[in-house]
Amino acid sequence: MIIILKQGTTKAEVEPLRRMLTERGLILQEIIGETTNMIGLAGDTSGLMEDSILIYPYVERVMRVQESYKLAGRKFHPTDSIFEIAGRRIGGDAFCVIAGPCSVESEEQILTIARNVKSSGADFLRGGAFKPRTSPYAFKGLGVDGLELLKIARQKTGLPIVTELMSAEHLDTFAENVDVIQIGARNMQNFTLLREVGELKKPVLLKRGLSSTIDELLMSAEYVMAGGSDQVILCERGIRTFETATRNTLDLSAVPVLKAKSHLPVIVDPSHATGYWHLVEPMSLAAVAAGADGLIIEVHNNPEAALCDGAQSITPQVFHRLMGKARKIREVVAPTIQL
Ligand code: PEP
Ligand code: MN
Repeated sequence: MIIILKQGTTKAEVEPLRRMLTERGLILQEIIGETTNMIGLAGDTSGLMEDSILIYPYVERVMRVQESYKLAGRKFHPTDSIFEIAGRRIGGDAFCVIAGPCSVESEEQILTIARNVKSSGADFLRGGAFKPRTSPYAFKGLGVDGLELLKIARQKTGLPIVTELMSAEHLDTFAENVDVIQIGARNMQNFTLLREVGELKKPVLLKRGLSSTIDELLMSAEYVMAGGSDQVILCERGIRTFETATRNTLDLSAVPVLKAKSHLPVIVDPSHATGYWHLVEPMSLAAVAAGADGLIIEVHNNPEAALCDGAQSITPQVFHRLMGKARKIREVVAPTIQL
């Protein structure tokens, strides 16, 4: 971290700031120039907030050099993390696809889709039991009954399950029953929930918030990891922009940016990113080409009748075709995307 002092600041004036910083165990390197006075800080500044320095009246600017995400960052963990979850691998050389409906609707629905996506090569089954809906009157999922149906689908197909946790009240149930706990875009900055889910020490799929920066996503991952989990999968699912032609704007550059900044696996959700089923296949392929470690895709056997997100759900047939193409692209890009 570098602290720029206002012109004309005297050495004596800076004493209280100097004391505060040395008490934190930091080493100060002071540079007194003709026009600029600055202090360079060596040591762990991750817990030092810019505000606590800017409060000194003679401080002009603070520049952070070291990121605040030590656990999620690549600096202290230069190699890609590879997670082994319920017999599946994700990260590094292991590409992973999570597929299934937006929401669990019935036993027949989830079983049919689970069998379909499995036969096309999906590694995990997704399905919302608790749905975060913009309208309080929309279908909000089957709740714990939905979880039970996911468990039946897992038992019958062998596919591990990924589902969204919305409230701390269900932490224990999820810990017991779910293979990967999804934290949705709307809860990406629910810091208490992040900490608590981290304490479960289970794999967590963390989706990027609707209007969150890449650094904010990484700070949220840091929360989960500081809680105790070391298996966090990052997910780019589109962000809010001025564009209205798609539901969100898929920020594909987030994939290589995240992979440069973090060792965690990065997957892409082209379904929520685009909002339209016919855009899901091309954007899935683009995500693979951009170096994503996996995809999470909404698949429905009868999208017209889906209780949630039918317009962005692809059929099992389209999913099958997409998987074939994705595999080919992955073969081409995987060896070249080395950091
Ligand atoms: C979902 O994956 O079901 C979902 C609601 O996604 P997001 O949190 O990205 O909107
Ligand atoms: Mn959905």
